[in-house]
Parts: sequence; C-alpha cells; structure tokens
Amino acid sequence: MSPKYSFIIPIYNEEETIAEMYRRVSAVMDRMDGAVELILINDGSRDRSLKLMRDLHDRDSRVCYLSLARNFGHQIAVTAGLNFARGQVIVILDADLQDPPELIPDMVEMWRQGFQVVYAQRSQRRQEGWFKKFTAYSFYRLLKKLADVDIPTDTGDFCLLDRQVVDVLNSMPERNRYIRGLRSWIGFRQTAIRFERDPRFAGDVKYTFRKSLALAINGLVSFSKVPLRLSTYVGLFSAIAAIIMALLVLYWRIFTPSSPLAGYTIILMAIFFLGAVQLVCVGILGEYVGRIYEEVKGRPLYTVGEVGGFVNQQVTARR
Ligand code: UDP
Ligand code: MG
Repeated sequence: MSPKYSFIIPIYNEEETIAEMYRRVSAVMDRMDGAVELILINDGSRDRSLKLMRDLHDRDSRVCYLSLARNFGHQIAVTAGLNFARGQVIVILDADLQDPPELIPDMVEMWRQGFQVVYAQRSQRRQEGWFKKFTAYSFYRLLKKLADVDIPTDTGDFCLLDRQVVDVLNSMPERNRYIRGLRSWIGFRQTAIRFERDPRFAGDVKYTFRKSLALAINGLVSFSKVPLRLSTYVGLFSAIAAIIMALLVLYWRIFTPSSPLAGYTIILMAIFFLGAVQLVCVGILGEYVGRIYEEVKGRPLYTVGEVGGFVNQQVTARR
C-alpha cells in the first residue's frame, strides 16, 4: 500500500547532519495522520552519507533511499525524489535542517484547505553571510522583474506538493530544472507559509558560489527571454550612438577645422566597448543555444546507482 506522505530529502556530503535530521524528521513523521515514507537521495556524496542512509533504512522501514551514480546537483536530486515518491502529499526539504520539519503539519493543514502547492517563504535568514543575503536578495528581485511567470521572492525548494502537481512536474521533460520556477509555472492553487530560516545545523554549505551562480543563471535563462532582447536593445542603442557620432564628426569637419576628436584613444575605446558588447551578446546567445543542445541530446536526467526500500515495479523499470 502506498503511503499518504512522502518526504524528499536530497543529501550531498551531509554525514554530520543526517542523525539529527532523522531525529527531528522522524518525530514529525510519528505525528502525521497517515503512513509516511522518507526518501533520502544521495547525490553522489563522497563521505559516509550513503552508509548512514543504509543504516537508517535497515533500522526504520519507512526510510527509503536512492543513490545517484554521481553528483548531479540539488535540483536533479530532488527531481529523482519526485520521480520515486508514491505519496499523496509530497514535501521537499533540505538535509541541513535549515527548513524546519516542524513546519510540515502546518503546511499539511493548508493542503487540507485545498491548496495544491504550499511553498515556504523566508521572512528572515539567520546567521548567513551578508554576501549570500545580498546576492540572494537581489537575484530574487531581478528574477521577479524578468521572469515570464510570477516566481515568488525568497522561496527555496522547501514546499508541499499535491500528487496532481507532482505528476505534472514529472511529465515535464526539460533537463535544466529550476524547480521553484517550474513550480510557479504549473499554476494550481498555491499559497505561501512564512518561516524563519535557521542556520545550517552542521557542515559547510554545499552550494558553492559557482553552483549558486549556475542555479541563478539557469533560473533566469529558463524563465525569461529578456536577456536575449537586451542584446537587441544594446545593439540598437550603439547604432543610434554611432549615427549621432558620425553626424557630429561631419559637423566638426565642416565648421571647426581643428577637430576635437583627434587621436586614436577614442577609436580604441569605441573598439573595446563594442567588442565587449558583442562578446557579452554572444555569451547570452550561447546560454540559450547551450540549453537547446542539452535538451536535444535527450540524455536521462540522472543515473541511479543503488536503491533501497522501494518495492514497486516503477523502480525496477527505471533501473
Ligand atoms: N545538495 C545536493 N547536491 C548538491 C548540493 C547540495 O543534493 O550538489 C543538497 C544538500 O545536501 C542540502 C541541500 O541540497 O540538503 C541544500 O544545500 P545547502 O544547504 O548547501 O544550500 P543552501 O540552499 O542552504 O545554500
Ligand atoms: Mg542549507
């Protein structure tokens, strides 16, 4: 019989947090009004995480685990979890206890009221560096301005999803998955629940600056065509500037013989400026073309190395 609730937790080198995570999450699981499965996804950890996950599975039959064959990144790990989840209500949370599991019963309460998506919105980040806070703050605002869909600010992947929504998410074939964006794109009845983001329980942030930047670019490019249009605008602007400059030069040549535009500095500057603009535009184009390439190749999103605890044919089919 399939469980009522599925909790999905992606794990990448979290050996220090797993025990405490299990303690707090299982306390919540005990309080739920139906059967719960806890799906742990090992995203190619290089520490003892997988072993700890196996141990948990041996000790508690509600714990299932799924080990990706290498590090595929957080978004793909969550996607894998969504593919394997069997519950009616699916909750995604981080392993580092920055997303308090104690909030889940409140989210379920909202679900009972008829919402199919309940996303957690941070009202505060405790003890995170000013750089992280600043970049995250500006990114979410920029994304909100540029994106075609209304992606709520300051929401992470911590959310509750109804089975109907997960089925839609699973049917979306795209490789570049920005889950918060896809979640907004699909619609349905959505609501926010406010919470204060706690500091990480233990260990280092697994989202390095590079990974965060990649995620940010991914979010922008997947949900907005504004960057492409931007190059058109910059091109138009440069063309207008060039015409004005040409007219000015003509005017000076005719009416003031000692031209103020003597010297090649200004020419050098113009060449550098235009060169830079062109390179940036080619780069932007490349982001989109690269994504088309990724989609066209049509590789599977992830490869599974090992699973434990899933007993239905869907899993054997995927392996
Ligand atoms: N994570 C993952 N794969 C990665 C990076 C992170 O599965 O390549 C997991 C990590 O174990 C944690 C969650 O994603 O459960 C969020 O990571 P982290 O706390 O480092 O990022 P934050 O969003 O808090 O900055
Ligand atoms: Mg974290």
